[in-house]
Amino acid sequence: MTVNLLGLDAQALEAFVAEIGEKPFRAKQLMRWVHRYRESRFTDMSDLAKTLRDKLAGAAVVAAPRVINDGVSEDGTRKWLLDVGNGNAVETVFIPEANRGTLCISTQAGCTLACEFCSTGKQGFNRNLTAAEIVGQLWLANRALGATSKGGRVVSNVVLMGMGEPLLNFDNVVPALRLMLDDNAYGLSRRRVTVSTSGIVPLIDRLREECPVALAVSLHAPSDALRDRLMPINRKYPLRELLAACVRYLDRAPRDFITFEYVMLSGVNDGELQARELIALLADVPSKVNLIPFNPFPGAEFQCSPREVIRRLSDSLNAAGIVTTTRKTRGEDIDAACGQLVGQVQDRTRRVIRMEKVA
Ligand code: SAH
Ligand code: SF4
Repeated sequence: MTVNLLGLDAQALEAFVAEIGEKPFRAKQLMRWVHRYRESRFTDMSDLAKTLRDKLAGAAVVAAPRVINDGVSEDGTRKWLLDVGNGNAVETVFIPEANRGTLCISTQAGCTLACEFCSTGKQGFNRNLTAAEIVGQLWLANRALGATSKGGRVVSNVVLMGMGEPLLNFDNVVPALRLMLDDNAYGLSRRRVTVSTSGIVPLIDRLREECPVALAVSLHAPSDALRDRLMPINRKYPLRELLAACVRYLDRAPRDFITFEYVMLSGVNDGELQARELIALLADVPSKVNLIPFNPFPGAEFQCSPREVIRRLSDSLNAAGIVTTTRKTRGEDIDAACGQLVGQVQDRTRRVIRMEKVA
């Protein structure tokens, strides 16, 4: 069977190298070729012996997803639509800023969690991405942006905030994260790699054990009653349990706070009452709050809070000592803003339900 080297972390690459009868140091060499120099042709891996190159050509490939579309926004935000097979496509977004470049990566084709305000959630779920497809997004972006190995890295930060719930694809996400952190691959520090989750409590604990990168939690509501309605996952892992997991996470986290994302839904979660509830809720959790203006999508039932309402909530939280920022909306003209990513998903969940109805 042909192995795709792109998705193999250090340990898996060492195992692969051993399997083809090569010395362990070859794993390091290969990792550098694949990720640092983004070389996909074994024939061009010039410091590998010809016999090894031939062996690799017979046993392995370096294959990233195919780019279907490549769009650049007026503000410089760039979005790639990537083919992940069987009629499915996911999106990756690069957001350039003055002092950093952030790549927003997808982890699933669709999402099972069906949050009310999210276009990815509305379109259903097809499948988990493989580790190669996840890290392949960084590989492709670096390639497309012309990053060089000599300090010209354009992607300085990675956020797993594209399509999908990263923690529900744990076994593929963790090797991809390890590659992002590996000095022979992308060498990003743990604080520059952020996993965003809707709050899968046991998997937050597992991430803490296995690969504690920076954590962002999609909060969006300060009470269980409201959060149950906006994010069905809250019925399984209510706020008290979620915040306790956040506190546990902090003793292994690369930063000394958890980022809480809060989408601004007009008349729903943006009032004075919610401000007071939020302040009380976060009193014992070292936090930063990131207010996200709601990005509309076709069929959405919500509207974004007016600018002055966003400012009022931000001021109230800041006055209570909770550092709060408001996310600037980027890439709206190419539908690359938070919650607008839809790619192309052949929804299997709904199809199953439909078939059940027919039967
Ligand atoms: N599933 C993960 C990561 C992907 S979503 C999570 O939920 O955290 C990335 C962020 O965009 C989340 O905070 C999500 O709640 C937010 N988001 C979803 N839909 C949005 C919309 N329509 N407008 C603004 N933000 C949205
Ligand atoms: Fe899934 Fe996150 Fe969208 Fe909720 S907000 S549906 S968890 S991608």
